[in-house]
Amino acid sequence: MKELLQELKNTYGEEAEFRDGQEEAIQEVLNGKRLLVVQKTGWGKSLVYFLATRMIRKRTQAVTLIISPLLALMNNQIVSADKLGLQVETINSENMDNWESVIERLEKNRIDALIVSPERLANEEFQELFRTGILRIGLFVVDEAHCISDWGHDFRPDYRRIVDVIRRLPSNIPVLATTATANDRVIKDIKEQLGEDIIVSRGSLMRESLQLQVIRLTTKEERLAWILDHIMELPGTGIIYCLTVSDCQLVYKWLCTNGIPSRCYYADLKNDGTEDKQTIVDLFMTNQIKVLAATVAFGMGFDKPDIGFVIHFQKPGNLVAYYQQIGRAGRGISRALAILLSGGEDNRINNYFIESAFPTEDLMEEVMSAVRENPDPGLKQSDFEKLINMKPSKIKACLKYLVVEGAIYKDGAYYRPAARFWKPDMEKSREITAIRRNELEQMTDFAGTGSCYMKYIAGVLDDSRAKACGTCSNCLNRPIVSEELRQNTLLKAQSFIKEDFHEIDPRKQWPSGVLVDGKNRIPKEFLCETGRVLSYYGDAGWGRLVAEGKYRDHHFDDQLVEAAAGLLTDFVEEHEIRWVTGIPSLRRPALVPEFARRLAAQLHLNYAQVIEKVKDTRCQKELNTSFLQYENVKDSFEVKQAFSENVLLVDDMVDSRWTFTVCGYKLRESGSGKVFPFALASSAGRDGR
Ligand SMILES: [Zn+2]
Repeated sequence: MKELLQELKNTYGEEAEFRDGQEEAIQEVLNGKRLLVVQKTGWGKSLVYFLATRMIRKRTQAVTLIISPLLALMNNQIVSADKLGLQVETINSENMDNWESVIERLEKNRIDALIVSPERLANEEFQELFRTGILRIGLFVVDEAHCISDWGHDFRPDYRRIVDVIRRLPSNIPVLATTATANDRVIKDIKEQLGEDIIVSRGSLMRESLQLQVIRLTTKEERLAWILDHIMELPGTGIIYCLTVSDCQLVYKWLCTNGIPSRCYYADLKNDGTEDKQTIVDLFMTNQIKVLAATVAFGMGFDKPDIGFVIHFQKPGNLVAYYQQIGRAGRGISRALAILLSGGEDNRINNYFIESAFPTEDLMEEVMSAVRENPDPGLKQSDFEKLINMKPSKIKACLKYLVVEGAIYKDGAYYRPAARFWKPDMEKSREITAIRRNELEQMTDFAGTGSCYMKYIAGVLDDSRAKACGTCSNCLNRPIVSEELRQNTLLKAQSFIKEDFHEIDPRKQWPSGVLVDGKNRIPKEFLCETGRVLSYYGDAGWGRLVAEGKYRDHHFDDQLVEAAAGLLTDFVEEHEIRWVTGIPSLRRPALVPEFARRLAAQLHLNYAQVIEKVKDTRCQKELNTSFLQYENVKDSFEVKQAFSENVLLVDDMVDSRWTFTVCGYKLRESGSGKVFPFALASSAGRDGR
């Protein structure tokens, strides 16, 4: 034991001491044991496996293999390994060029630890490293081990591969699995998968530095106003978590408009050349911005010890996720705030995520029968999109699920049926869905509890040492940050939400496989220009009024004409738009043209009804793949005439953009000037993260 402490002091200085349980964990690993460590964030799990690595490397040439779910996490681990003077490499999708040099250094015994993603384990070349003995494992580490359990909240199908690898490891190779968020059920599941002989080491999950408060503000306008009124009183820098990308952008724009240094962060953040994700993260890490509006994509692996606050714009779907997210604050400082703003739309969005978590039985059956009918050479993802009426993202998720389930396998770009009989286990997905619903209820209970918030969370995590924290707003029996908001700020937030618009990017090519005049790419002179959307369908602000106009009143309110004109006056000027036309439908032939006519009058432009609907089609919203949506509209419109000046092309809703693309193409073909689409509402991409 003395040797370990000395090693620690050599690295971190004479004052360094082990935290509760660290030394014991390292000792177990060095004794060749298998161990699951459940400790709160900030406890120092990586110190355990890196110090263990150092001790193992003194005795043998074997290397530590660390499985880590995210690139960002890997990079952080490399930084902390550096401090210990360890040579750590990662092989991931972004540095495949390094592959050769990594192998060379492994052969020369110059690498202490290797970090890979679970996907990498399935890679043939990587498995070759085991077989040839180039990679000799001295310690197998599974970081964020709750990802193994599909009862857990970050279940990743690829983590299943780890289980197979561990089962094949010689029994004297130590395994160290770590997590900060496992309750009894997840621990039981991890044990069942990694082997019953695994020792569980648990610490208290209470985070003393965090002060919790819940504020119920139903509308987004109220929450935006509260944030603006109080953000500058909050300590240091922080994160505002939102459930969807669109809310993330909304919060960011609001902060920006009001001069609060901020950025936003989500999974599909466009690299539009101005700032990439790394730049944004760096700005945040180096305290150059006050706040980051983020989805859960900003999660595991961003280790900033001095985060002073975490605000939730909506409540997450469960307490484990909530605990993880607030856990990013107050790691290296003595006090930080976690403020949950619970709103009216939270449950609707969370229910949507719960319902769409598993592929439906119908979709799985459609995919399976398509694969079985085309076993040779199999089907590519784009083939499925032509055969099955479902969003590509859902098809992709379903394919991945079926691969992990062993129902199909991937051969190059082709998916092929597995030899064994397979049918979906709907029982399990139903069971998990039911659990998720319960957890959402528990989250709602938490938001309404009158007793200690931290104790409530620790109790849900089965922490036997849970006790009242004494510092949350319930323990103190008063708000930590005032719940008041200024009437002026609220009015400002209300008009801000109404003026919030989105752009329509032009589609640049026909669906995969479709050729028009021999080309898949749409010629530049037939493309639509970047257009504008007033709102998100059904959203607070204008979205609700659009929904009522379309389905209840069959007439769009004058307020929408005014709002659209307000959004478009400068736009029309800037792009020299001279006339307006509307896209008719057979079901309600007058609805859009009549609106477009009023809009044209308001903008002082000419109106001409030049597009005719010649064929009844299905509602675009019912169709889910690009190919089917395109097929549905390509022959259903005709352009009778066009004017050579630039035109504003008006529709009520935009989703796939195929209606705009096809009508725009036909207008240009008939001699129109540039075509600028405008829609009252977008129903696309509403709930992405
Ligand atoms: Zn408390």
